[in-house]
Amino acid sequence: MLNVLFPKVCGGCSNKLLKGENTLCASCIHSLPLLAHHKTASTGMTAVFYGRVPLEQATALLRFTKKGITQELLHNLKYRGNENIGVFFGKWLGAELAQIQSYTTIDCIIPVPIHKLKKRKRGYNQVTGFGLEISKALQKPMFEDVLLKKYETASQVFKQRFTRFNNEEVFTVKNEEKITGKHILIVDDIITTGATLENCANKLLTAGASKISLATIAMA
Ligand SMILES: [Zn+2]
Repeated sequence: MLNVLFPKVCGGCSNKLLKGENTLCASCIHSLPLLAHHKTASTGMTAVFYGRVPLEQATALLRFTKKGITQELLHNLKYRGNENIGVFFGKWLGAELAQIQSYTTIDCIIPVPIHKLKKRKRGYNQVTGFGLEISKALQKPMFEDVLLKKYETASQVFKQRFTRFNNEEVFTVKNEEKITGKHILIVDDIITTGATLENCANKLLTAGASKISLATIAMA
């Protein structure tokens, strides 16, 4: 009965999920454009930050292409309430990172924050589920009260009109004692130019973190 009212559909193709399938159908899982830098020792993501911010490890699970399945998945995660997509990929990536020595030195996980008003409107930060599953797999805490977003910056018009709110000022750090001397894994849904993650990393390093690693669902 519940299934009729709330049919469980695939987060990638919107087809009805079969028994035993969870979040994504088997066909979509097989067609995912995997990057998985952590498994291939690829420097693809680290290279983006070369000369900008020192990183220990950096990995993205999927390649993002316009109109591709990754775009559909992230859109469903962010704008259509399918929070399970973040959980699904957090479980996947978390299980893999827990097997890799260089990721076991991570002390805590910090998700890139969204502004509290946006969170209230959406009902959740789209990165929380992803980060929590990685936190469980690595058996390290996730903190959502350390890195905070001060301003809403979604609108390009807003950015252009109020250039004094440059990216450096968008994020702020609280409860610094939680991260002093710590190796932090910053998690986000997607990396494009790397500007957001660079700012977050620098804010945390300035506040006393010792090392930064990154993990995202996708990379453009
Ligand atoms: Zn599908």
